[in-house]
Amino acid sequence: MPQLGFGVWQVPDAEAETVVATALEAGYRSIDTAAAYDNEEGTGKAIARSGIPREDLFVTTKLWNSDQGYDATLRAFDTSVSKLGLDYVDLYLIHWPTPERGLYVDTYKAFEKLHADGRIRAIGVSNFLPEHLERLIAETSVVPAVNQIELHPHLQQHAAREYHAEQGIATEAWSPLGQGKGLLEVPAIVAIARKHGRTPAQVVLRWHIQLGNVVIPKSATPSRIKENIDVFDFSLDAEDLAAISALNEDRRLGPDPAAFNGA
Ligand code: NAD
Repeated sequence: MPQLGFGVWQVPDAEAETVVATALEAGYRSIDTAAAYDNEEGTGKAIARSGIPREDLFVTTKLWNSDQGYDATLRAFDTSVSKLGLDYVDLYLIHWPTPERGLYVDTYKAFEKLHADGRIRAIGVSNFLPEHLERLIAETSVVPAVNQIELHPHLQQHAAREYHAEQGIATEAWSPLGQGKGLLEVPAIVAIARKHGRTPAQVVLRWHIQLGNVVIPKSATPSRIKENIDVFDFSLDAEDLAAISALNEDRRLGPDPAAFNGA
């Protein structure tokens, strides 16, 4: 799995073909979409049009909450691959645990079947707390390859990252730039950016990379799409990393996974 990919949440389907094509031209090879983003068709069109060999791409999509359950998952997966125009996906994620539904274990068993059938290369989850992962690991056979969680300098997720590392689960950071809101204006980040002759977004993405997180920044602006992947030719030093670590506030932008039950 490439450590840096392209996220397409909030990209309208009609624009996804152009935006994803721009990302593929800029060198991204990993795309993160979801049934709920309603842009699998546009994403699939960009992939088809790119001419990039399928084996060079890493495509992630996610199962929405209302499709949880064994049979519903099998049907939802068929819909997603058909919209994407693909025979298989590289990574399929349960979008949220929605623990009140009580269906994430059954859902994951359908993921295991699709995995065994070769229709998904790797299976994982998103927004799972360690308690949900513990139950999943106890009751199913395949340890999730990935847990995609909200993670940025204001929400550093130390406990989750540690638990993932113990279990051999990759940590993937959603909203890695904190959705571009105040985070990119924080003086400590702006100062580090000046020191390296880089942008604040590049500094934050580089911090993730050096921590070992998988990141999937989103932008619909061609110059930012290019800027966000251009983070592999400089390094943050120990002082920079410590200054960013000091920004943790355990503050979520998104919902609390223990309570979120989105339909
Ligand atoms: P992000 O942290 O990637 O921020 C994106 C926003 O930051 C952009 O809309 C833009 O306003 C700004 N931005 C981007 N590049 C910039 C740059 N170089 N300079 C200045 N501003 C810049 O936020 P996101 O889109 O929420 O998260 C990224 C991806 O994570 C999503 O597209 C999606 O694929 C995934 N995601 C998953 C979940 C989940 O529940 N699993 C939830 C949210 C997002």
